[in-house]
Amino acid sequence: MSFQLQYTSLDEIQSTYDDLQKTFRAGKARPLAWRQHQLRQLLLMLNENQQAIVGALQADLNKPAAESLLGEVGAGIRTAERTLARVEEWVKPELVAVDEWQQSWSPTINKTPKGVVLIISPWNYPFILNIQPLIGAISAGCPAVLKPSEISAHTSALLADLIHKYLDNSTYRVVNGAVKETTYLLELKWDHIFYTGNSKVARIIATAAAKHLTPCTLELGGKSPVVVDAAHTDLKLAAKRILWGKTTNAGQICVAPDYILIPRDAQDAFIEALKEAYSTFHPGGALGSDSYGSIVSKGHYDRLQDLIKRTTAKPVIGGGSDGQRTIEPTVYRDVTQGDALLEGEIFGPLLPLVPVDNIQEAIEFINERSHPLALYVFTDDPEVKQAFVEQTLSGSLVFNDVFQHLSVGELPFQGIGESGYGAQHLKYTFDGFTHHRATVDIPFSAEPILARRYPPYQKA
Ligand code: NAD
Repeated sequence: MSFQLQYTSLDEIQSTYDDLQKTFRAGKARPLAWRQHQLRQLLLMLNENQQAIVGALQADLNKPAAESLLGEVGAGIRTAERTLARVEEWVKPELVAVDEWQQSWSPTINKTPKGVVLIISPWNYPFILNIQPLIGAISAGCPAVLKPSEISAHTSALLADLIHKYLDNSTYRVVNGAVKETTYLLELKWDHIFYTGNSKVARIIATAAAKHLTPCTLELGGKSPVVVDAAHTDLKLAAKRILWGKTTNAGQICVAPDYILIPRDAQDAFIEALKEAYSTFHPGGALGSDSYGSIVSKGHYDRLQDLIKRTTAKPVIGGGSDGQRTIEPTVYRDVTQGDALLEGEIFGPLLPLVPVDNIQEAIEFINERSHPLALYVFTDDPEVKQAFVEQTLSGSLVFNDVFQHLSVGELPFQGIGESGYGAQHLKYTFDGFTHHRATVDIPFSAEPILARRYPPYQKA
């Protein structure tokens, strides 16, 4: 029997919104000590409920415990701890350096909470993708409503229980529901909307936000390419790192390697290296391995099966599935333009290899498409690296690994163009929810300098 997520009624959504507006106007979420206390409560929540979180993720995605502890709970703890350690520094007003004649004005950037914010999240990392922006909202002094995905129902139910138990209820609330509930939420006027998910729904979010001129952060996805410069890399290690990136969470990661651009004459050797990596990861095959997750829903499983049917490319690794919700990591060779695997974001464990004649062709292939969220290049040639820095555009650029940049919280994580806008991670998330308010206090003693501005004007 499938689990039934309890949706929030529209009346409760409205009263939640009204409560949070009152909280903001009362200034309750603003004091630094309050923010720090709520962050400590969040840390307590994460530490005390690790097993429950792992269990919910297992129920939703068959996510292996090791992946949940590292990528969802551990990432949450690390973000909360580091935010707690730094928030005092972040909130400090910043005195800016100016010319001498303006120094007496105390030109300052005050870090002001934007207001009441809405956080809408997807199902693939259903815990951390709520917790991470929430940490940013708390640190910025903003009351927040979380709207987790209805598809990851177990985690969304647990999030509501835990947030309401550990955090202040008049400031941080979870609204559960699907399109009807989110549509209602989007009619309300928020001070910032932080949305993570697909680009089709992002357009609905941005359109609704535009009606109120509400600023948004849009963390989207797309097809993140990998370029393997076979002549200048360790092919075996590259294959291992790429396959790990493609099979973690069964490929359901916004920054998963989507397709590989590889020199034509290196394709066979690379396939052998992938086979070797695969057999070390899952000696008995991935189906049934407790180190391998499943597809989140029947709908997404069917979407991937449809891709498998429509591609004209040949699988050289994998190709099987359990007929329920697990699909083997499947590698396709000689994939060409126009193939179904190159249409949209794959978001599953299918990996097309696209042969190219040279690096310049790879660069052109990437530039003919939307700017990806991440671009991965395996090479130790400085000139090739420089060519990618200068001739391509992507949310982030990683040399010689896949999505490990996510662990560097000091770097902004963000898309560009179709992969989204607005940044997150530690101070970047704080900044997204913070108004950088220009403030000056112009003393009357500055009058002699200002005197020239008054009419009657002097002749030039
Ligand atoms: P999803 O289907 O759960 O949708 C995301 C959210 O949008 C959910 O809360 C859902 O309730 C809401 N929603 C869905 N339809 C809606 C509608 N018609 N109106 C209003 N709200 C609606 O998740 P998804 O979009 O399938 O998530 C996967 C996508 O997210 C992929 O494209 C992936 O690349 C992207 N993603 C991006 C990041 C990032 O940080 N950049 C992280 C994870 C996932």
